[in-house]
Amino acid sequence: MDKYTVNHQYFGHSTFREGQEQLIDGILSGQDSFGIMPTGGGKSLCYQIPALMLPGLTLVISPLISLMKDQTSALAEAGISAAYLNSAMEPEEYQWVRQGVRDGKYKLLYIAPERLDNESFAGLMQTQNISLIAVDEAHCISQWGQDFRPSYRKIADFVDALPHRPVLATFTATATEEVRRDVIDLLRLRHPNVLVTGFDRPNLYFEVRQPKDKTAELLSLIREYHDRCGIVYCATRNKVEQLCDALCRAGIAATRYHAGLSDEERQHSQDDFQFDRKTVMVATNAFGMGIDKSNVSYVIHYNMPKSLEAYYQEAGRAGRDGTPADCVLLYSSGDVVTARHLIEHSGDGADLSQEDRATVRTRDLRRLEQMIGYCKTTHCLRGYLLDYFGQSHTSACGNCGNCKSEYTRQDMTTQAQMILSCILRVKARLGFYVGSGLIIDVLRGSKNQRIRSLGLDQLSTYNLLNTESKDNIQRYLDRLTELGYLFTEPEHRTLRITRQSDEVLRRGKTVELTKKVLPQPTEPPAEPSPQAPDEALFQALKAVRSKLAQTEQVPAYIIFSNATLQDMARKKPQTMAQLLQVSGVGEVKAARYGEIFLNAINRE
Ligand code: ADP
Ligand code: ZN
Repeated sequence: MDKYTVNHQYFGHSTFREGQEQLIDGILSGQDSFGIMPTGGGKSLCYQIPALMLPGLTLVISPLISLMKDQTSALAEAGISAAYLNSAMEPEEYQWVRQGVRDGKYKLLYIAPERLDNESFAGLMQTQNISLIAVDEAHCISQWGQDFRPSYRKIADFVDALPHRPVLATFTATATEEVRRDVIDLLRLRHPNVLVTGFDRPNLYFEVRQPKDKTAELLSLIREYHDRCGIVYCATRNKVEQLCDALCRAGIAATRYHAGLSDEERQHSQDDFQFDRKTVMVATNAFGMGIDKSNVSYVIHYNMPKSLEAYYQEAGRAGRDGTPADCVLLYSSGDVVTARHLIEHSGDGADLSQEDRATVRTRDLRRLEQMIGYCKTTHCLRGYLLDYFGQSHTSACGNCGNCKSEYTRQDMTTQAQMILSCILRVKARLGFYVGSGLIIDVLRGSKNQRIRSLGLDQLSTYNLLNTESKDNIQRYLDRLTELGYLFTEPEHRTLRITRQSDEVLRRGKTVELTKKVLPQPTEPPAEPSPQAPDEALFQALKAVRSKLAQTEQVPAYIIFSNATLQDMARKKPQTMAQLLQVSGVGEVKAARYGEIFLNAINRE
């Protein structure tokens, strides 16, 4: 069977996504591979298809146990024999799977890296014909990655000790150079085929809002989304509790997740969300590593995360089924304070040397500045993200809050000159740079004690912008930063001017402030377009799926994703052959559920 047939027959996909084919071909030809793809990019397929085509067993190393159960049941649904082994299993179940491995029953076996320490497991692997080892979330091997797991360091020795060296296929969504180098070095990949692809997620709409009242904004957003599923990320456990209560009081089916809850409660709320019993999950970043729910249609960040990697990973949990989804970040300047606090007190790297800790801190503060830049840019948000991940792109995507907004322009050259010279004068007076708060106070002629004691009220730029509000001056500062005339030094957040500012100060370059005019809500089209799925049929199919999910005891999206049901509601297949043309319907699922869905289509 070739890869196209496998892709269609087992997974029901008629095409490959960007990068998948190259990675699969590389693996099949025996080459080590390193796929750098964003969350939801379709990494699993890159090793699952070779696993089915190669002789013997494929070992999948993945950090989270909760993911394994889901992935193996999804594979079982597609007619592929897969299993997992971990420490949380009942002894009988564990023995049963071990026996299955001995009998050559499985094509794929999922394990967490800790398993490699287990002697009896290592012994069992010695006797197996392992063709491929897939390492998911490979950044866990690096201290530069977000989730360093020392047990990942054992993988290379484990591989070396096997009687035959299998092909290694590794995957991550992390962008930084250090992490990429560590993965290649520490896993001892041999001439790997390295492929960076698909950071663009065209179905995701990005937007940053800076509302006066975040909670009110959140409520109205969630009401607009109706019964669609979404995640709300907050920076702290307290905030999670508070917001979840507020949403529940407002009659929204919300649940919550953070590391302060008992295992049992976490499992419970995760299941509620997974099985669509609750539509909104309010959570800290502790939620998500193990989540593979494809019908999340929005992710709202109530607070700004610490880095763009974290943001993109969390936001990327929306729209994994390929249907349009929204990623909205609610920004306020207080978020910067919280994020800095979290970086200073993270407790991460407690086992690192003092010097390494300092490096990590500097790196984190630099990443934070890039995150702030995302919140403040008036350019294309997708473009900003893709620049960060090193992928080329068009200048404006047309599908983000900034591309969709209209801007008014205002000349701010005079204000710019006043601000820049004020920063220079303060620096000359004090011998050091200060933060934006103090600069704003000087410009507005504040009478506070600090200003007087520093003698800043004697400067010629004191009181120059006394008619402007703090927010307005902050806007000027943001704009000057965006244009490269100012920058915030990450360590102490002092505001400094760049050499480029000479253009404004001495060469009369004009500066314009662009102000966002909020996008008008788009009118829904009067007539559904011919390719649009039949909404009533889609709802009916969803109901059929829910019922099936209940009897089969699996999450609904494991049966068919929303994208698949929509395609079904569009194509309205009448026969089994037509049903197989629906995206996401493979032969096994068609045989298992085809009748039920065809009947439902006939009834409508
Ligand atoms: P990740 O890269 O995060 O591991 P997954 O492998 O879980 O992503 O894939 C994300 C989603 O994309 C899944 O719902 C999967 O079915 C879908 N998908 C993957 N490859 C394809 C493809 N070639 N065509 C259509 N859908 C695909
Ligand atoms: Zn854009």
